[in-house]
Amino acid sequence: MSLVVHKYGGTSMGSVERIKNVAKRVAKWHRAGYQMVVVPSAMSGETNRLLALAKEVDGNASLRELDMIASTGEQVSVGLLVIALQAEGVDAISFCGWQVPIRTDDSYTKARITSIDDKRVRDELAKGKVVVITGFQGVTDDGHITTLGRGGSDTQAVAVAAAMKADECLIYTDVDAVYTTDPRVEPDARPLKTVTFEEMLEMASLGSKILQIRSVEFAGKYKVPTRVLTSFSDPMIPIAEEASSGTLISFEEDENVEQAVISGIAFNRDEAKVSVLGVPDKPGIAYAILGPVAKANIDVDMIIQNAGVGGTTDFSFTVHRNELQKTLDVLKNDVQPAIHAKEVTGDPKVAKVSVVGIGMRSHVGIAALMFETLSKEGINIQMISTSEIKISVVIDDKYMELAVRALHRAFELDKAAA
Ligand code: ADP
Ligand code: ASP
Ligand code: MG
Repeated sequence: MSLVVHKYGGTSMGSVERIKNVAKRVAKWHRAGYQMVVVPSAMSGETNRLLALAKEVDGNASLRELDMIASTGEQVSVGLLVIALQAEGVDAISFCGWQVPIRTDDSYTKARITSIDDKRVRDELAKGKVVVITGFQGVTDDGHITTLGRGGSDTQAVAVAAAMKADECLIYTDVDAVYTTDPRVEPDARPLKTVTFEEMLEMASLGSKILQIRSVEFAGKYKVPTRVLTSFSDPMIPIAEEASSGTLISFEEDENVEQAVISGIAFNRDEAKVSVLGVPDKPGIAYAILGPVAKANIDVDMIIQNAGVGGTTDFSFTVHRNELQKTLDVLKNDVQPAIHAKEVTGDPKVAKVSVVGIGMRSHVGIAALMFETLSKEGINIQMISTSEIKISVVIDDKYMELAVRALHRAFELDKAAA
């Protein structure tokens, strides 16, 4: 018997009416003979509401307690969905992460799944039940509740699918496919039938919020067939039609029938740029700056060091916007006095825009076209970084949407691939 995992995002679970629709869809699959594990998110806005409450009590709340609070959104969702399934005449049972259990490390608010014991889930499936597991949360070996980072229900679903060797993981969301870029920014964005695992990984890591990056990592590591599709279609559409809709993450390059050089444009408004100006241009400086930043558990993204003039140089890098203040504190208190830097500055008003495509490996001129396009729009590039299949630039965030749309046009992503 085929086992499928369905994941429903916050908007898909956003109201009682929508939850009833999810139940209708799941019931349809169950009646067709599939074993079903369903992983819902909290109702849309709920996680934000819970975290805002905590912040209102104290802006410096302990991360463990934040997880205790934020994880409840998904607990409500699983209960509501099971009630809706039972009302459909389907036997179903809900589990929290700790009941499965889904084990994680203890990095509260961004915990990583370490193992999943699927025995309890399999026992319930064997009884003919649909099993509904909370998204976003797990438990440490010591029994503390953790959450998997924002958007973490995707990861929960793919990890469960990997652990249970499910035939497919279907990620139901509020758009009907992965598009060439976020259709909310570029209305001419085009849905992709397939996207390679590597491209999806780059897009997720560069800020496309459609899938949490760790879910893509799990899909790749365990070769989980994963598809992104809409929960807003008629829940009763034939399964054959539904199962071939949306975007499939493919693991073979030649399966990518569209063969576009560039498959998508990603952007990220969550970054901030920091610069350490007038530092001595000598060996050990990058380490002297980034060592204390790493020690403070701050993730660094892009890094540039300018060519030195007159024995000094400038050093810039980007961090998550939420960590800008913490980074500036580390630099001003620990780094600046130690290396005698002239100045430390921070700029939260930047955005990163990236073009992604495996075709870049075999085509030249992509960077040139990207820079030409931005220059024609009068957009100044502050930082550049490249990999084999992506080029990213940091620009002033007020030009982000303009840059995305101009690049989308320049790379002809609005036109179907030949
Ligand atoms: P869910 O609540 O279902 O997890 P998310 O809001 O996390 O949904 O992700 C879906 C959203 O991702 C879409 O509404 C869309 O605005 C955004 N998005 C960003 N990049 C893309 C893209 N390339 N293709 C489709 N949607 C994208
Ligand atoms: N509810 C969590 C969030 O809002 C997890 C998720 O929706 O994937 O981030
Ligand atoms: Mg999401």
